[in-house]
Amino acid sequence: MQVIGRAILRGMKDRELYAQILGIGPPWAVSDVELDVKDGSVEVHVDARDAKKLPCPECDKTCPRYDHRARRWRHLDTCQFRTILVAEVPRVECPEHGVHQVKVPWGEEGSRFTALFEAVAIDWLREASLSAVSRRLQLSWSEVAGIQKRAVARGLARRPALKLSRIGIDETSFQKRHEYVTAVSDSTTGDVVYVADGRKKESVEGFYESLTPTQLEAIEVVAMDMAGPYISATRDHVPDADDKIAFDRFHVAKLLGDAVDKVRRDEHRAFMKDGDWTLKGSKYLWLKNPENLDAAVADSTFEILKGMALKTARAWAIKEHARFLWHYVSRAWAKRAWTKWIGWAMRSKLEPIKKAARTIRKRLRGILNAIVLGATNATAESLNAKIQRVKRMACGFRNRKRFRNAIYFHLGGLDLYPDGYLLSPCTHTRV
Ligand SMILES: [Zn+2]
Repeated sequence: MQVIGRAILRGMKDRELYAQILGIGPPWAVSDVELDVKDGSVEVHVDARDAKKLPCPECDKTCPRYDHRARRWRHLDTCQFRTILVAEVPRVECPEHGVHQVKVPWGEEGSRFTALFEAVAIDWLREASLSAVSRRLQLSWSEVAGIQKRAVARGLARRPALKLSRIGIDETSFQKRHEYVTAVSDSTTGDVVYVADGRKKESVEGFYESLTPTQLEAIEVVAMDMAGPYISATRDHVPDADDKIAFDRFHVAKLLGDAVDKVRRDEHRAFMKDGDWTLKGSKYLWLKNPENLDAAVADSTFEILKGMALKTARAWAIKEHARFLWHYVSRAWAKRAWTKWIGWAMRSKLEPIKKAARTIRKRLRGILNAIVLGATNATAESLNAKIQRVKRMACGFRNRKRFRNAIYFHLGGLDLYPDGYLLSPCTHTRV
């Protein structure tokens, strides 16, 4: 007997089964199911042949049919068969809005995937990289990126007006070392609310310009690093900015950590000239918080190094001391303690530490704001880690736009799913 490669199933049962799988009902009905065993695919033909009148997509008024257009959607596989939905989608002629294609219940306008398929792709994208999802769902890389992009656009369009009181502005590197994006986050929820290219004044200006005067007025704390551009954009747009700009602990620690590392590198280089390897491999001992160091390491190697008359050890002690200057409640006491610390750092004769201390002196008002306003480092620190995770998951963004999209996708707290994806009786539910 000859093996049938292609079969058209017109039986009532087959059609009903597929109507149920697709979750469609009147006026839509399954007319044919075309099975291609060789190709491993099934085409489900759907039409609304009997409907003489259908609702206009603009005003919902029932209007006479005008003509129809053939369209295809990829649906979730049924019994391992790649499933394609094929429909002659009617156009209606509305006296008010003209000729328009009617809405279909299984997918969004302009998408080549059913809503359920997109929802599943979105679920996958939350857990796996773009390339893994593309392999798994047998989609091209750009098709997956397209699903992600539409999900973000949908989420941003649905997002209610922002109510922000505490925000954080951060830069994060994109691919190559010296390319950056700026992310603005809501410190209360931890959601990223805005992403822009670069780390210039304009990068953050776009965000402020998207807010109303009332929204700007409601901002109470803006946590950021001590570089100029974010400060000046905030001053230009947020009322009483000088009382709200906060240089939190995370950013101050980063500045001082970099300074200690510079001292270590210079000292190590000088030692090496004499064949002295004392500082080799010690980088992270000086940068980590002592409580995070492995106990054995902290007790042996690090204790010995700290006890030696090293420039790096002095720089480290100054950095460590600054970690304990954040518990003040009163601005005056905090100011006194920091001023004393700045004096100590300036007398250290360690150029990188002096440079950092000068920055801190210049930005002291913002540090004191952070202390009295309770601007914590937690959000900025975890946001940075989360963005780096997004970056790793993407393993190479082809462009910044896609990186920006991925940040919104994973960290924007957005409602990403297409409408109507619960139409199918399958068990997919929104998480
Ligand atoms: Zn209309």
